[in-house]
Amino acid sequence: MTRSAMRPAPAEATAALAAALADAFGTRLMTQVAARDHYARGEGHHGEHRPDLVVRPLSVEDVQRAVREAARFGVPVVPYGAGTSLEGNAAAVEGGLCLDLSGMTRVIGIAVDDMLCVVEPGVTREQLNAELRATGLFFAVDPGADATMAGMIATRASGTNAVRYGTMRENTLALKVVLADGSLVRTGTRARKSAAGYDLTHLFVGSEGTLGITVEATLRLHGAPETVLAGTWPFATLDGAVRTVIATIQAGVPVARMELLDPAAIRACNAFSHLTLPEAPTLFIELHGSEAGVREQMATIAAIGGELGGGVLARAVETEARSALWKARHQALPAARALVPGAVTWVTDVCVPISHLSDAIGRVQADVAAAGLLAPILGHVGDGNFHVFFVLRPDDEQGWQRARAVNEAMLDHALSVGGTCTGEHGVGIGKQEVLLREHGAEAVALMRRVKAALDPHGLLNPGKIFAGAP
Ligand SMILES: Cc1cc2nc3c(=O)[nH]c(=O)nc-3n(C[C@H](O)[C@H](O)[C@H](O)COP(=O)(O)OP(=O)(O)OC[C@H]3O[C@@H](n4cnc5c(N)ncnc54)[C@H](O)[C@@H]3O)c2cc1C
Repeated sequence: MTRSAMRPAPAEATAALAAALADAFGTRLMTQVAARDHYARGEGHHGEHRPDLVVRPLSVEDVQRAVREAARFGVPVVPYGAGTSLEGNAAAVEGGLCLDLSGMTRVIGIAVDDMLCVVEPGVTREQLNAELRATGLFFAVDPGADATMAGMIATRASGTNAVRYGTMRENTLALKVVLADGSLVRTGTRARKSAAGYDLTHLFVGSEGTLGITVEATLRLHGAPETVLAGTWPFATLDGAVRTVIATIQAGVPVARMELLDPAAIRACNAFSHLTLPEAPTLFIELHGSEAGVREQMATIAAIGGELGGGVLARAVETEARSALWKARHQALPAARALVPGAVTWVTDVCVPISHLSDAIGRVQADVAAAGLLAPILGHVGDGNFHVFFVLRPDDEQGWQRARAVNEAMLDHALSVGGTCTGEHGVGIGKQEVLLREHGAEAVALMRRVKAALDPHGLLNPGKIFAGAP
């Protein structure tokens, strides 16, 4: 039976659910519009979707209770972390119960010798790295926002470090997950690898809260590097910058970060973060290793880029200078938004095989210019992943239409060269149609069968990845 067939009228069902949760959650159950409004709008461009109820669990048992009761009344459950996802991934498109997991913030354990940690779902990346500081280890995945671990697992997030340290896929070892009926399942182990049966851990990684609620995660850590060297490097052409990245990777230089910012993105960062970088296609680079190692790596990269139009490579050695650089990079989104007073941003991302990267970005730049749009482009280019930040006034209907056309052409091109419609932001609401084009009807039908097996009544984060009942 599908959810719509089994669910009583939403108002009755949510009222019954609120009554059932009231004693256990007390003030951690929120029914007032003002409180629910906080959860209605994410960082994306997908409008407002207010949940009918919000609860803030503090334990696994709280999550199980809330999910079990929601299942009893046929009310959808939308897990919510920090609300920073960009494709409407945590939007309550069908109302229901928002499960705000940001209060579950315990780092349960750190196993220094095994280089792993066990965390509750609401631990954020900045919190985790602050708690790891004395251990000599760090957690590497760094989306620009201070997202929660469970939110990052759910979107299969990555960031500037992924070229060296991997995405949430590589950094998630094991999970505890509450399923749609409220039961608890454990997946994975503490071992670095396993050949034991289906890989359930990675079925949940990237499932956007549609298959289960993560209540605990075992994550991989990395040794803090002895020496870190960073720098900014302007290029005469975007192609020269991208070809430098490709040649660097082909030469086996283990870059930790290699980010590209186009001139519009540099202009935004200069203005917002008080930098004075030349408005040119620019690489932000970071190297990790021994002192001699990073010097040697930097020399190799400088030689490669020098042949490809690289200008003066400005090194950032001191911690403060490096932090300022990466802070500016992480603030590129608000920086882009600030370019036009009253504007909003529509962020989209694709990932292509790296040999197609320069062409893919060049096409988008040309389309953006032809459409008369403002859209800084930034990329985790070491991975072939880049983002376009369309800066638009909310009421500029024509601008939105032109941006949609540029986005469509970018997606078509990415798929035509064997790329993907999203390298890290997920499908959410915004990429459902293109998901079908990317994977084909058979594969998407199989995804739906997986969804139906785990969530037969379609209660978990409905309307995401693919619309309609499972
Ligand atoms: C300025 C800025 C920069 C960004 N840069 C990057 C970047 O470089 N790389 C990148 O990958 N992303 C980036 N993002 C997007 C965003 O930070 C990521 O998508 C992040 O993973 C979302 O985490 P969250 O805690 O905010 O989750 P939310 O937005 O709250 O939720 C995201 C998804 O996770 C689900 N979810 C949340 N908690 C759970 C749980 N316990 N169990 C199951 N599902 C759950 C939600 O239902 C939803 O589907 C950026 C966003 C901003 C605003």
